[in-house]
Amino acid sequence: SAVALVTTMAACGSSEKSTDKAASGGDTAGALIGITMPTKSSERWIHDGDNLKSQLEGMGYKVDLQYAENDIPTQTQQLDSQITKGAKLLIIASIDGTALSSQLDNAKAANIPVIAYDRLIRDNANVDYYTTFDNFKVGVQQATSLLTGLGVLKADGSKGDVKGPFNVELFAGSPDDNNATFFFNGAMSILDPYIKDGTIVIKSGQKDFKTVATLRWDPETAQKRMENILTSTYKGGAKVDGVLSPYDGISIGILSALKSAGYGTASQKYPVVTGQDAELASVKSIIAGEQYSTIYKDTRELAKVTGEMANAILKGETPKTNNTTDYDNGKKIVSAMLLDSVIVNKENYQKVLIDSGYYTADQLK
Ligand code: BGC
Repeated sequence: SAVALVTTMAACGSSEKSTDKAASGGDTAGALIGITMPTKSSERWIHDGDNLKSQLEGMGYKVDLQYAENDIPTQTQQLDSQITKGAKLLIIASIDGTALSSQLDNAKAANIPVIAYDRLIRDNANVDYYTTFDNFKVGVQQATSLLTGLGVLKADGSKGDVKGPFNVELFAGSPDDNNATFFFNGAMSILDPYIKDGTIVIKSGQKDFKTVATLRWDPETAQKRMENILTSTYKGGAKVDGVLSPYDGISIGILSALKSAGYGTASQKYPVVTGQDAELASVKSIIAGEQYSTIYKDTRELAKVTGEMANAILKGETPKTNNTTDYDNGKKIVSAMLLDSVIVNKENYQKVLIDSGYYTADQLK
């Protein structure tokens, strides 16, 4: 229709214009941008890196993209080397958010702006901006879907018919990742009232962040902890009804411990297990009725807003942000651009993940 045509033309016009601007961006046109990502052991970071790189290259920038396999010295060396190579801007998804201070100091001295990507970098004032998802809300969504899976809440958020009590175990992410606390606090803001009124019982008694945290988000560490809980707390015949899991890789570890203990059969169903990132294996597991839910974060969008932010900074413009209150890194409140996440389960994966083009139906077979 005419309207569609006009919209398409407008869209083309605006993207051409921004490319032109980037190309004529003075001494930063074609500049080198350093991107450091934590690890390739989780799909999401591969998508993040690829999306960011192609977007920035499309704007005419040169990109140095590095992965550090969750090894902190490797990541600091990569940053040192990007600074030495003359990078004009750094986009950093940190492994340990408190371990990059000397790199940030050097970047500052060389006038190199820094964007913290997805994970906040802490304890240093030289973090210019932060792009991420609303991390507290991710935790709220994880806990909400746990309650929905248990039947405590209905899909529309109203009170369900089931009253419990339900045995639930808690897992959190890596203690050196600032996000992990946000996810956990968000989740506990929802679960706490149900723990207080007895609907939910944390049967192992392990409920403070430090005890339930999983260093480096490691699936095997989580699997071992779940195995230990199963032997210490559930050997008398009690059953696990739900597990708050902060990340799909951890959920896989948890499910595998449960499977070894006899869960996942017709007579002993898996408990409700949450997750995060909508990684392929976990979405397949959701479709198969094992993992209950995940939180979808569209990393294409995160790469897009981060690319636009980098471009704006390099052109001397003020980038768009939508939060100036929540992310205090210990030295300053970092202006952030927060995106929204979506709960995915068996009912809506088709609409959210396939219809949006994030995955093809074939990938999920
Ligand atoms: C990210 C999550 C991810 C986790 C493990 C967090 O910082 O925000 O999306 O699940 O790291 O990689």
